[in-house]
Amino acid sequence: MSDTPDQTPGMDWDEFARWGRRIADWGAEYHRTLRERPVRAPLTPGATRAALPAAPPETGQEMGAILSDLDAHILLGLTHWQHPRFFAYFPANAAPPSMLAEFVTAILAPQCMLWQTSPAATELESLVLDWLRQALALPEGFSGVIQDSASSATLAAVLVMRERALDWAGNRDGLAGQGQVRIYASPEVHSSIERAVWIAGIGARNLVRIPVSGPNRGMDPDALRAAIAADRAAGHLPAGVIACTGATGTGASDDLRAVLEVARAAGLYSHVDAAWAGAAMICPEMRALWHGVEGADSVVVNPHKWLGAQFDCTAHYLRDPEPLVRTLAIQPEYLRTHGADGFVNYSEWSIPLGRRFRALKLWFVLRHYGLEGLRAMIRNHVRWSQALCARLRDDPRFEIVTDPVLSLFTFRRRGGDEAAQLALLARINDDGRIYLTQTRIDGALAIRFQAGAMATTAADVEMAYTVLDELAR
Ligand code: PLP
Repeated sequence: MSDTPDQTPGMDWDEFARWGRRIADWGAEYHRTLRERPVRAPLTPGATRAALPAAPPETGQEMGAILSDLDAHILLGLTHWQHPRFFAYFPANAAPPSMLAEFVTAILAPQCMLWQTSPAATELESLVLDWLRQALALPEGFSGVIQDSASSATLAAVLVMRERALDWAGNRDGLAGQGQVRIYASPEVHSSIERAVWIAGIGARNLVRIPVSGPNRGMDPDALRAAIAADRAAGHLPAGVIACTGATGTGASDDLRAVLEVARAAGLYSHVDAAWAGAAMICPEMRALWHGVEGADSVVVNPHKWLGAQFDCTAHYLRDPEPLVRTLAIQPEYLRTHGADGFVNYSEWSIPLGRRFRALKLWFVLRHYGLEGLRAMIRNHVRWSQALCARLRDDPRFEIVTDPVLSLFTFRRRGGDEAAQLALLARINDDGRIYLTQTRIDGALAIRFQAGAMATTAADVEMAYTVLDELAR
């Protein structure tokens, strides 16, 4: 006889409710005291793993023991992305209402691949993305889908570019014997663009880098036009243009009006990566950065960066979803709904089949803060960051390398070689009060500063100056 219990052993719902309350209290305390922790984790390779048992437990353990190990071993090894003085990379905000929505999502755990597998989730996704479209002032006909990341949205757009250029034969026949599909972008775009080109089988060699010029480091539209013409003359297959608004290194932004017009005139599909800066487009006065975006076929904005709907929540907008669905939809019998729903099936718009209920957190956040609340946060970040930049510019020990694009600028310690910049950066990050990262501009290293964490205050940005002042002495 088997002694296997006939029910999965473990937590009952009373216990779940008790621990749910405990974790909510624990979370509130973590955030209340976050400012006192060092922003970046200590970088001691192997420390976390060494502190934990190498083999799994044979018998179930108490939640209390699990949570105390979380405090003792895991928390100490984390970099605190929600820290008010996290000025590195780009923000990955998790607003409290978003956390609550994620808790609800975790409880309900629906699969949102087809309309009929979670009708309300699909309809809420369409609705909140239309709310956000209005907030961003994107054209009325654009439809949206939530992807798991900007990388996935860009990959989906690159696959559409490839299929259009191959007259929809790539998925069926593969790429062998086809002409060389060519994609155009500036050298400033995020690494996810190159990776999309790898994964799509196009190859990095066919990602044509168009030189940039001007203070915005945007691609030269004449050079783009010439590159497309040269490729056509060489028998290649120009397929798409990927433009950026607010690239990762320094916030480089293409002149979308000019670049998208070149793409349109050449019959190419266009995709705009505004993963970070897109959030700021809810502020009408900041929209000059993406003038002309209405000419794009595909646009990506990450609410999981600067709008507080935590990772993963990427808003992917399409002038016309049809080419995307034609590229990605696949319908084995078990996924057919035989027209019973008549609604969108979002798994046909994205690469994974399974989809989390991501619309809920965006709905909670947009309703809790309202657009005015979110605009106030972004305006503060931009203002504080620009004030810090002005202060460093006036300080003879520093030079500003690139001016602020929204809340991002880069600087260097004057007179130091690359090793000196890296040494300063290491001192700053080991100190723990703030966290910064670096980039390369025309081959030379610079330190990046961006303000974007929801918890940041003017005093936190002030602290960044204090730290720089002390550590640059
Ligand atoms: N595009 C830009 C401009 C980014 O800065 C980033 C990440 O920081 C990405 C794309 C990739 O975003 P995700 O992590 O959502 O794939």
